[in-house]
Amino acid sequence: MRKQIAVYIEEHRDAMMDFWRQLVQIESGSANKAGVDAVARRVQEELDTIGAHTEIHEMKRAGNMLVSVLNEDVPEAPVLLLGHMDTVFPDGTVADRPFTLRDGKAYGPGVLDMKGGVTIAVFAMKALKEAGWTKRPVRLVLVGDEEVGHRNSDGNQQIMEQAWSAVATFNCESGRLGNEVVVQRKGALTYRMDVTGIAAHAGNEPEKGRSAILEMAHKVIAIQNLTDWQQGTTYNVGVISGGTVANAVPDTASILIDVRYLKKEYVPDIEAKLQDVAHTNYVDGTKTSLTQLSCCIPMERMAGTDGLLAKVQEAYASFGMPRPSGIIVGGGSDSAYTVAAGVPTICAMGVEGSRHHSPEEYACVESLYARAKALAYVVTMV
Ligand SMILES: [Zn+2]
Repeated sequence: MRKQIAVYIEEHRDAMMDFWRQLVQIESGSANKAGVDAVARRVQEELDTIGAHTEIHEMKRAGNMLVSVLNEDVPEAPVLLLGHMDTVFPDGTVADRPFTLRDGKAYGPGVLDMKGGVTIAVFAMKALKEAGWTKRPVRLVLVGDEEVGHRNSDGNQQIMEQAWSAVATFNCESGRLGNEVVVQRKGALTYRMDVTGIAAHAGNEPEKGRSAILEMAHKVIAIQNLTDWQQGTTYNVGVISGGTVANAVPDTASILIDVRYLKKEYVPDIEAKLQDVAHTNYVDGTKTSLTQLSCCIPMERMAGTDGLLAKVQEAYASFGMPRPSGIIVGGGSDSAYTVAAGVPTICAMGVEGSRHHSPEEYACVESLYARAKALAYVVTMV
């Protein structure tokens, strides 16, 4: 099986490169529904050639979702392959910097995040089909709005529904330089804090004012000091605004706060600590409110994660690649939802590269083929 997979991928290097190039050349920023939907159609067309059963889940206000199943009639728990088709780049980016190859690296919008990963998932399925592997269904789920956190769809709910019956998930998200994979990701909470003070002329009667900015300055330091490196919970005041002119005691100040955390069970404590800062008065006569703006759950390490990682390591090693270490990162992904559905998940199984979400984004071409082989093979090991 391992050998057949390797032969298939080696013989289809050009086809993989063409497919990757075509996907990058389709403009598919999260806001470009027509573009994301076109990516889904191109993926469906490719998987039609191996007789996979594909359904397109129509979304009204976001890119569509694709679910494609190989070995649909096999009555075993499926292996889930996960990914997204949208990118963070606005329309016009493809014209500015089309798919390009240079010194063993590929450039272009979404080349790493994650059209390389979509290419890997699709060709892993094709390799499994060609190798005659029929032990389990392989279910590919590609969403259209990961980069905006599914705010205009129920994509996260649908991922959980697709995942719950699966035995394992491999998320083909952007791979990292250094051959690592991701076993745990922090969750993210965002809050807004508003302070109201009392305005006054800064020269004539400053004593009558109550500075919202001074109050907020104390609070910013208090919030930053909540960071607990040991526990992995970090607080970042990322935006600050307040006041109107230099010669008035300011009566308004606002901040936006980002909190990263490893376990869902930490959330009540995070909330309580922020409420505590909100309710502690440093400047008499000011008032403070705290509002949660968003909550992304963490991809937690679960029983089964380490066993699945060991299989990924073995699969990589069997193709002569270094055994990937499983790391913890602060940035989120849809793997949080497959873990929430109780399915062991390994993330960042896509093409290796760096600088995603920037114009310098690039992917290492050889890793496209190497990681497609490893992905197809580890599916057979689950
Ligand atoms: Zn991504």
